[in-house]
Amino acid sequence: MPEPHADPGPGVPEIAFGPADEPWRNSFGGLSLMSGPPDVTPPSSDPRRSYASIPEIPYGQFQLPASGLTEEQYAAAENHFRSWLEQQCRVSVGFQVSGDLDYQQRLGPYLGLALNNVGDPYQSGAYTHNSKILERAVLDYFASLWNARWPHRRDDPESYWGYSLTMGASEGNLYGLWNAREYLSGQLMLHSGQDSWSSGGGRYGPAGDPAGPRSNSYHPVIFYSQDTHYSLTKATRLLGVDTFQDVGRRWFPDENPLAPGTPWPAEVPSLGGADGDGTIDIDCLAVLVDFFASRGFPILVNLNYGSTFKGAYDDVEVASRTVHEICAKHGLDERPVHHDHRGRHDDRAAEEQDGSGGFDLRTGYWVHVDGALGAGYAPYLEMARRAGLVAAAPPVFDFRLPTVHSITASGHKWMGAPWPCGIFMTRTGFQMVPPREVEYTGSSDTTLAGSRNGFSPLLMWDYLARHSYDDQARWAAECDRMAAYAESSLRALETALGLDLWVARSPFSLTVRFRRPAPWIVQKYSLSYETTHVRGQRRPCAHLFTMRHVTRDLVDALVRDLRRVGAFAAG
Ligand SMILES: *Cc1c(COP(=O)(O)O)cnc(C)c1O
Repeated sequence: MPEPHADPGPGVPEIAFGPADEPWRNSFGGLSLMSGPPDVTPPSSDPRRSYASIPEIPYGQFQLPASGLTEEQYAAAENHFRSWLEQQCRVSVGFQVSGDLDYQQRLGPYLGLALNNVGDPYQSGAYTHNSKILERAVLDYFASLWNARWPHRRDDPESYWGYSLTMGASEGNLYGLWNAREYLSGQLMLHSGQDSWSSGGGRYGPAGDPAGPRSNSYHPVIFYSQDTHYSLTKATRLLGVDTFQDVGRRWFPDENPLAPGTPWPAEVPSLGGADGDGTIDIDCLAVLVDFFASRGFPILVNLNYGSTFKGAYDDVEVASRTVHEICAKHGLDERPVHHDHRGRHDDRAAEEQDGSGGFDLRTGYWVHVDGALGAGYAPYLEMARRAGLVAAAPPVFDFRLPTVHSITASGHKWMGAPWPCGIFMTRTGFQMVPPREVEYTGSSDTTLAGSRNGFSPLLMWDYLARHSYDDQARWAAECDRMAAYAESSLRALETALGLDLWVARSPFSLTVRFRRPAPWIVQKYSLSYETTHVRGQRRPCAHLFTMRHVTRDLVDALVRDLRRVGAFAAG
């Protein structure tokens, strides 16, 4: 046998490692002395030099030797890390995540319990130590908030179905797009054709030859705006869904209907382009959707309800109605999908007169709403508006609209959580058959993850149990006012400095954009940033979010720092 971990090279094992600055090799315990060193790989170079260093918390203190850390080393490292983290959280204003969390007193004991919500939330299954009972309560709460029919009932296609995500809205977007792809490409739905399911069928089969001119009916094409979160692009790639640009370039290279003769854009333009408020340009969406719907392609649209950088709210009602009307014009509003459609003609009349085999009726489009922050926040802002606490709230986005198929929201954004979590929701009638039935867990594999975080439903349940609609409506109004305050403070600074800071706030949004300041300010306040191009001018921007933990004092402290000499030197 060759020695698997031969001498890694002169000097390398002598690299100072861990809190004691000992050579890496020195930390093997007594067992290894009896039988020779364990089969593990030494560092090939000094890790402390390989990673970006954070001066306040030097990496060496946290490195893990084989012996682990002594009690003193552990206490020093953990204290150091925690006080650094507490400070970073306290003054974080750059992201749409709430920072005032107080779960630890009540929920600490659950860290000693192995919670796991594997499988469908409505089936308890073999893994009994789950929090699905709380998960169902949380889902019912959101179903009500988002005006879906509830409770979930497997026999009622109009009732909602959903689950608590182990990731955040990125998972909700991925799952929503998977659901949409399966639905639009004619795969088997949970709600119809149970015969084929129970007989082990599972799928209707692939939707014909993708290169064939008659295969468009089961070839979904996705549309999302230029202000869309990167998780949508990633989900699109992961799932192999074609964007309108993919299909346009491949089959209609010179036919971009937005500007004939110019290349296809990757995304639907936003109103006013990079300089606008960040909402999708519905007229452009209409032109693009019409181009593809008229050629028979099923239409998959993502709308943003609170976009990531500008906090923009797409007009979901108007956009989705527009999509519906265009699809109706081309026979894609409600269409029969035959369970044996593979290889058959797409001609609707031919399908309708063919009575053989089962079929179901479904829309030829799917509208997914990415409401990472907005779907968790705007319903309370609307309550605040009704109570006269604020003047306006964004338009309706939820299941009141028959044209909306699925919605996702992050749990850690508006509510606040110590880790990513969230909700995905659709209608029961849109559920697809999972790829495989699993006997092992005793509950259907209807979710993206196998094992699912069971602590997250507990957190969300705790939050919702302790905060009434009234509390949240007041907070929503308060955050909205704080955003207005931040905007006016930045405008005053702009005047004082005599420098255009490009201050902007999209309607109803909790974020204010401004010229990106010097790196130390970006770092101190965890500011996120993005470079936009406005009329050929490069504009490095940052933004702040006035989440619940962001007080006037914190906004004032940031503005004071921005007033210092050199604060905008790097911009
Ligand atoms: C934050 C965000 C996401 C991603 O959500 P995670 O919970 O971070 O996975 C998706 N879309 C929008 C609009 C977001 O702001």
